[in-house]
Amino acid sequence: MSESLLLLAGDIERNPGPGGIGQENQPQDRLVDDSKQGKKEPKRRQRKPETWKKNSRKIKRAKGEAYINTRGVLVPAIKPPSPERICRCTFQCADVTAEQKASLFRELHSKPYNEQQAMISELVEVHDVRRHYRGRGGRARESAVSRRQRTPWYYLRDGARGRVRVCQGTVCDALGISRVRLQALYRKKAAGLPIEDQRGNRG
Ligand SMILES: [Zn+2]
Repeated sequence: MSESLLLLAGDIERNPGPGGIGQENQPQDRLVDDSKQGKKEPKRRQRKPETWKKNSRKIKRAKGEAYINTRGVLVPAIKPPSPERICRCTFQCADVTAEQKASLFRELHSKPYNEQQAMISELVEVHDVRRHYRGRGGRARESAVSRRQRTPWYYLRDGARGRVRVCQGTVCDALGISRVRLQALYRKKAAGLPIEDQRGNRG
């Protein structure tokens, strides 16, 4: 590990890239040491401060911290689930304790983005819509439901009982994620597409 770090450090010193010249005046003898050890010439890399900025924004965003977006607008920190907010829908939202929600929130926002996606994905299931042919709506309705239809079922982990089914709003509230993000993830999952962020993963 230290070897690769050294290599990287040497690499940066040798190829400071535009704008990086003279910022780090390391002694030149290390350069010689590297080549003496017969290591393969590392690939040229250039400094890209704009990438660092982007990464720091990504990390802050994943953690739910406040950050400045690409348009220079401050995006406020995500609020943890409010203990007062209890959903009274037909699902089991009211059964998930405030502590459990807060714990899920902390767990999610301690993970990097793609691991968050995996965690959220475990809480969303793709279900075929159960078809009820009650004769309501006649022929047009029957042909409409004969297409394959799917719907998301949402869950939250509940310490005592494993997991309970909840509504979309409670998942978003507990995890501090937007409906847009949850729906996008569901659509990808339903379509069998990767849920991870595919950008900037080309090594
Ligand atoms: Zn609910």
